Amino acid sequence: MGAALRWLWASLLLVVAVATRAQVPVTEPDFTGLVLKDVQQTISTCLSEVQHGRTHLALGRIDSALFPNGVTLALDPTVADPLTHRAFARAMRAWNEALGLDCPLQLAKTGTEPEVWVRLTSMLPTGMGHELGLIQLERRVQYSRTLHRVIIKGTISVLQAHRGHAMTEDEQFHIMLHEMGHLLGLDDVPNVGPLMGPMQRGRTLTAVPAEEAVLVRQLRAILRQRSQQVTLLASTMP
Ligand SMILES: [Zn+2]
Repeated sequence: MGAALRWLWASLLLVVAVATRAQVPVTEPDFTGLVLKDVQQTISTCLSEVQHGRTHLALGRIDSALFPNGVTLALDPTVADPLTHRAFARAMRAWNEALGLDCPLQLAKTGTEPEVWVRLTSMLPTGMGHELGLIQLERRVQYSRTLHRVIIKGTISVLQAHRGHAMTEDEQFHIMLHEMGHLLGLDDVPNVGPLMGPMQRGRTLTAVPAEEAVLVRQLRAILRQRSQQVTLLASTMP
């Protein structure tokens, strides 16, 4: 009798200890205006989805922003100009250098369909505030009570020329880097200077600014933490 009681207490304490540790925030930053709204919404609503029985929707939404198994990209093979190939390779390398081992961007294997294509275009849809480049990204989550599956389909479009001037390699690099920033969850900011601000022609970045690299790392840490919290909370639900 006494032994059984002790065991009950021990397991109860263990659950509390685990729950407490997981709930200590990784000093949760304020992402307002810096992180895409749908990603912010995933962060703020995923735990309540569990309470509504949609654990795998919550986990799928987290995965669709975190890409725990990576997200594959490839440059449109019909692009002939080596300048664009160099710009693309540099942009992939720059994000990998900025995020180190936590960079989910991966080059698609030759001959396989990437999740995100990078293309050149002679025209972008007007009136969307994307003058030089654009990412169209679909994050689809299929889920049941026990499983989830994420389907990512996207295109990064880079304008070939703007007001009669062909984009330089540095400009194409900067635009690709910016659009990849969106893929990683960053939103546009209004001020000139940061990667996610408007690009001024002729004044391009050569790497991901440290502040924005830190922001992506923080975002990924929070998404990973939420994934653990969702799993833990789901395990306590009847
Ligand atoms: Zn943008």
